[in-house]
Formats: sequence, C-alpha cells, structure tokens
Amino acid sequence: MPASKGYAAHSAQSPLAPFAFSRREPGPTEIVVDILYCGVCHSDLHMARNEWGNAIYPMVPGHEIVGRVTATGKSVTKFKAGDTAAVGVIVDSCRNCPSCNNSEEHFCHEGATLTYAAKDRVDGSITMGGYSSNYVVDERFAHTVPANLNLAAVAPLLCAGITTYSPLRHWNTGPGKKVGIIGLGGLGHMALKFAHSFGAHVVQFTTNDRKREDALRLGANEVVLSKDPAQMKAHAASFDFILDCVSAPHALDDYLPLLRQDGTLTLVGLPEKPPAFAPFNLITGRRSIAGSMIGGMEETQQMLDYCGHHNITSEVEVIPIQKINEAFERMLKQDVKYRFVIDMSSLK
Ligand code: NAP
Ligand code: ZN
Ligand code: ZN
Repeated sequence: MPASKGYAAHSAQSPLAPFAFSRREPGPTEIVVDILYCGVCHSDLHMARNEWGNAIYPMVPGHEIVGRVTATGKSVTKFKAGDTAAVGVIVDSCRNCPSCNNSEEHFCHEGATLTYAAKDRVDGSITMGGYSSNYVVDERFAHTVPANLNLAAVAPLLCAGITTYSPLRHWNTGPGKKVGIIGLGGLGHMALKFAHSFGAHVVQFTTNDRKREDALRLGANEVVLSKDPAQMKAHAASFDFILDCVSAPHALDDYLPLLRQDGTLTLVGLPEKPPAFAPFNLITGRRSIAGSMIGGMEETQQMLDYCGHHNITSEVEVIPIQKINEAFERMLKQDVKYRFVIDMSSLK
C-alpha cells in the first residue's frame, strides 16, 4: 500500500496538522501520482470547518493536484511513469449513467466521488485529498498537462479553472457579449482571464478598490467597486451574463437589476448561508439565476489544452505546507493574489 503523508483537519475547530496514512494499491486502470503542487481552494476551508455540514474527519483537503506519475496499472494507456498528471475535484463516478456517458461525471446520477471526504467506490474507505504526498486514481479521472505551462500555476486550473471555464462556455460568452465577474479571488481571476480570452467585454466587480489595477491587467475592460451605488447603477440592465464567484453572503439584489432582458446570473460561489433575492428583480426582464459546478472530465481536458494554447495559468503565491493555516486566515481576509498553491516538496 503506498504510504502517504499530508496535513489533516481533525475537527471543524482544529487547525490542519501533519497526518500519516496509506493509499490503496492501484488497480489495473489506475495510476499513482506523486504530488508536486496542490492549490488551496476556498472550498477546502468551507469543508475543513464543516461550513456545509458534510465534513468527515480526519480530513486531508485539496483538489487542485498536479504531480508526477510514479506507477501505472497494467491496463493504463494514457500515462506512463514520469508523465505529469493532474487531478481535480472528483476521482470517480458510476461511469454508466446518462451523465457519465456524456462525460458529465460531475452530474453522475449516483453521485460522483469527491477527491476528499467521500466514500471511495473501490474499497469503501474515505478519500484523502491533495494536501499530501501522493494520490491513487483511475486514469479516466486524471488529465494530461500541456508541457509549456508552469506546473505550480496549473494546479488551480483543476478547480478554479474548470469551474469558471465551463459556465462561461455553456452560456456562450464571447465577442459581442457583456460579461460581469463578481469577486476577484481564486475563481474570479480565472473567470476574468477566460472571459477576456473568449473575447467578451468583461466587467470585474470587486469590494476592494485596491484590486482595480490587477483586474485591468488580468483582462477587465472595466472595474466596478460594488459598494458604490453610482458605479453599479451606471451598468443597469446591460449584462448578458454575470458569474458570481463570491465565497461569503452578499446581496444578489445588487446585481440582478444589472442584467439585461433574458440575462443570466450564474452562481458558482457557495456561501455558508443561502442567498435571498426579490422575485421582482427576475420578472422585470425574464432574468434567470442559475448554478454551475466544476466540469466533466472531457471538458476539463479541453480547458487544460485551451490554457496550453493560449498560455493561461493562475496567478499564484506558492507556500510551504507548514503555512496552510495562515493561508486559510489570509483567504478569509481576501488577502490572496490570487491563489495559494502548496509546494509539496515542503512535506519532506
Ligand atoms: P476566494 O479566493 O476566497 O475568493 C472569494 C472572493 O469573494 C474574494 O476574493 C472577494 O472578492 C469576494 N468576497 C469575499 N468575501 C466577500 C464579502 N463578504 N462580500 C462580497 N464579496 C466577498 O474563494 P474561491 O476559492 O475563489 O471560491 C469562491 C467560492 O466558490 C467559494 O464559496 C467556493 O467554495 C466556491 N466554489 C464553487 C465551485 C463550484 O463547483 N461551483 C468550485 C470551487 C469553488 P473581492 O475582494 O474582489 O470583493
Ligand atoms: Zn475547489
Ligand atoms: Zn454516473
């Protein structure tokens, strides 16, 4: 059994601390990945602190994984030892329902297996995530990585990247479309890069005026300080699409009037408390509120390949794993530019 070490939360209140465990032996279609980098997603913090009520402890978080393949099962075709591989938010699914057959494994009718704090379909154990030295995963749920990209900056693509790429594609953002991105954090800055790359007119909403210059540099055509009603009103009834990437409770009614007729505001952010909104802000313009969750395996690979072609990666601050608790606190203070990534060599 591959031995693994990582950092785990043991309760909603406890800081993450060193933790040793073992992975199961890889099956015929599985690979063993030595983890080089793992991004720090706000979902890791929500989960470690049980803010969604589904925590299982001990919990090793982490679902933005990039590493080196060290072993392959005998039927593996996509990878060989020494290759770079990437793993995201899900590591298995039923592989046989209409969604799985359509490579929308994240919508598996039986429920996809999450990378951590979920029941492993193979041996019934609890999955342990990427804040650790290695991972064992079926090749179907691992991705190849374009060779031209910086690996630390690739890691966040596995969640922040696909979670924003997928809805921006699904709602056909591109030339001639006015797109708003709410929140310039891990997800938000990737949404901004993708929407800009797709050719949309992009407006970044932020609560923090000090992020203005960065937003412009990352591709925003305009930046709106969401606390300023005059700046908000100037965009009334003008957006085709708004992607809400905010991690904390906030007023949807500040944004819904900014959608044009038939416009959509899609939630990817998952605050602890459900949002409220005034139905009048929807009916006056047949506006929609929608949601989107990560992306399927095929689309995740497409996203990575797109990033390779267009040289898109995340803006990262690389940290040793010993700084993970500090990183969580800084994330809560909106003090991240724009994704923490753990250098896993610090575990040694
Ligand atoms: P993050 O890096 O912490 O960014 C969140 C951003 O939200 C902040 O940078 C900030 O932007 C804004 N914000 C924070 N507190 C706010 C407040 N009180 N009022 C208004 N805005 C506030 O988090 P992340 O990793 O991008 O994740 C964002 C959310 O998406 C989390 O809830 C996460 O769990 C969820 N998520 C969902 C999926 C999915 O599949 N749907 C996947 C991954 C993550 P400004 O400073 O610019 O205002
Ligand atoms: Zn995530
Ligand atoms: Zn399925």
